[in-house]
Amino acid sequence: MERYDVIVLGLGAMGSATLYDLARRGARAIGLERHGVAHGFGSSHGVTRLIHKAYFEHPGYIPLLRRAYENWARLSDESGESLLVQTGLLVTGAPDSPVIEGLSRCYAEHDLPHEQLSAGEAMARHPQFALPRDYAAFFDPGGGYLLAEQCIEHSLRLAEERGAAVRLHEEATAWKADAGGVRVVTEYDEYEADSLVVTAGPWSADALRDLNLPLSLRRKVQLWYATPDPAPYSAGAMPVFYAAMDYGEFSGFPIRDDDGLKLAEHTGGDPLDNPDTLDRGLEPDDEDKALRFVRDVLPGFEPERSRFSVCIYTMTPDERFIIDRHPEHANVAIAAGFSGHGFKFAPVVGEILADLATEGCTHLPIEFLGIGRFKGAAR
Ligand SMILES: Cc1cc2nc3c(=O)[nH]c(=O)nc-3n(C[C@H](O)[C@H](O)[C@H](O)COP(=O)(O)OP(=O)(O)OC[C@H]3O[C@@H](n4cnc5c(N)ncnc54)[C@H](O)[C@@H]3O)c2cc1C
Repeated sequence: MERYDVIVLGLGAMGSATLYDLARRGARAIGLERHGVAHGFGSSHGVTRLIHKAYFEHPGYIPLLRRAYENWARLSDESGESLLVQTGLLVTGAPDSPVIEGLSRCYAEHDLPHEQLSAGEAMARHPQFALPRDYAAFFDPGGGYLLAEQCIEHSLRLAEERGAAVRLHEEATAWKADAGGVRVVTEYDEYEADSLVVTAGPWSADALRDLNLPLSLRRKVQLWYATPDPAPYSAGAMPVFYAAMDYGEFSGFPIRDDDGLKLAEHTGGDPLDNPDTLDRGLEPDDEDKALRFVRDVLPGFEPERSRFSVCIYTMTPDERFIIDRHPEHANVAIAAGFSGHGFKFAPVVGEILADLATEGCTHLPIEFLGIGRFKGAAR
């Protein structure tokens, strides 16, 4: 049996970034994926993901984001594609909403480029929006979106070009680790390596059953709307946006193609027990709030639904990621529970996991993401 330096279990956003980083540093790595490349069954599909430089959820994310931007730039250079489209990001909400209060704090504490705008100023600049008069807004010029599937495709292609092995449509059914290394059993084969990285997304609780991780799943719907007059809502004419309304928080992406403007609600989402039984259809009330949002905030936009896609959030109780070494196996690194905001971090998560897998430690600050913060999880 061929022996590898590292096995990566799961090749979504985080696993593909990890395999790419491992291959860049010359490690003999293999990635296992139960579906195809950039498939639509997990958490990383739907064309676009927000990225921005300010982060209020925890100050620890700021240095990770700086590094993520550097790594996205390198991936774009190496792939020859602009994977990060910098449109600027408009964030708006009531002045006392957690989003606006959190961003105010973040900008006071960190030297990050931004503009603070009143609702009136934001609407004067972006007349597509109708905002409640008392709302506050921030503009992040570094914000924009990532082309999600393309990021994964290029990471895996570049990893393979540098010698990594990729096994698609091959489910890992068991793994074990001891001081001598790791062994992963799949439906077709067995693989050995010095270390293992588990990046199984919504399937993490299953892949890491022994850890009893406090993860919960949510069903999330992404919606695309065409409109008879697309120009004012197109990339170039409008930034990406994030709006905290009193009935939910919504992200929006300007029109790129015939699919139209994309909207997704970050809040809400039905609880889900098993990612394999996800309801992938559009239920009657799935777009009620999105349509209300369009009526309230984009009143000139006449929505004609062109497409939808159902996706999964994997939540932790504090909505912070889990990135750590397995408490009982130093040669197993895990990354899970990205709680609906992980994609923008994928290449720095990949670097961290490659560090943990090849060196046993990382210089990047991840203490605040450790597994030990959860009571009841094995440590
Ligand atoms: C609707 C929606 C909108 C979002 N918006 C944003 C956003 O704007 N900005 C942002 O930063 N983040 C956003 N996120 C979050 C972000 O997309 C996720 O945090 C990220 O994609 C998670 O990546 P992952 O690698 O952990 O999971 P996945 O990409 O799901 O990857 C896990 C992979 O592991 C594979 N796998 C699992 N078990 C096995 C096994 N036993 N054997 C082999 N393979 C296995 C799966 O098939 C899958 O490919 C959003 C998420 C959703 C759903």
